[in-house]
Amino acid sequence: MTTRQNIKQELPEKDYIYNLFKDQLQKEYWNLNRTDKSGKPGGHERVSVVTKKAQCIKQRHGSYDPYPCDECGIMLNVVISGFIRDKQKSNDTVYFVFDVTEGKAYTLNENPRRKDFKGSIPLMTEWDHYNRKDKTIENSRLWKSLSIEKAYSYFLKTRALCVECHRKKNSDEERRKSNRLLFDECIDILVNTVKPKNKPDFKNALNKAKMKALDEFDMNLLHKLERIPGNPIDTYGSRFKWQFVKDEVARKNNG
Ligand SMILES: [Zn+2]
Repeated sequence: MTTRQNIKQELPEKDYIYNLFKDQLQKEYWNLNRTDKSGKPGGHERVSVVTKKAQCIKQRHGSYDPYPCDECGIMLNVVISGFIRDKQKSNDTVYFVFDVTEGKAYTLNENPRRKDFKGSIPLMTEWDHYNRKDKTIENSRLWKSLSIEKAYSYFLKTRALCVECHRKKNSDEERRKSNRLLFDECIDILVNTVKPKNKPDFKNALNKAKMKALDEFDMNLLHKLERIPGNPIDTYGSRFKWQFVKDEVARKNNG
């Protein structure tokens, strides 16, 4: 389906969402008119995107009532943000926050997602991917050009986090990443301790090595084993070769 066809897709909640904010927003930002040819993203497209997101949240949580942050449990309203940029003047951006739960819209001239944003708006949800690898599509494309069914299946791979918990999670993740073993250390521990027979044997061999380290109370070794990346090629690039590890392990086993 093309973008244009998708925008035309009739969403059951559209009138409800449109009516919720129609008295709070300028008509050019918020309308149901599909034939707006002014060049700016039309108000109609914005109604569609906000409706699509709101509908996915409702489908998942059953209503527009607040739902908890998956980490700290703080309650979060159904809040959707958006913006409109004037292509001629790059710093001329209008930001919107739509609180569907309260039926309140906010028009802002500062980005509410910035850390130093001081305005008074409801807490926003960060939809965090359970698995980083599921993050395969740009957020804007997800809501603008995918059908509601496709968008929903992507949406199910995320969980609701408040801004604080999302920041914390990302910094934990970054810390773990920077704590990865150096390439030479990784090769050394794979060849001498983990000893995978081949690539498919890696996870199994790594788990066995961890169990053994734990049984022997060798916490230093255990920590080192935990710092081996799940997919070394992702971390070290093409200089990491399973064939080399396999040959070295075989050579040591035979010698
Ligand atoms: Zn939280």
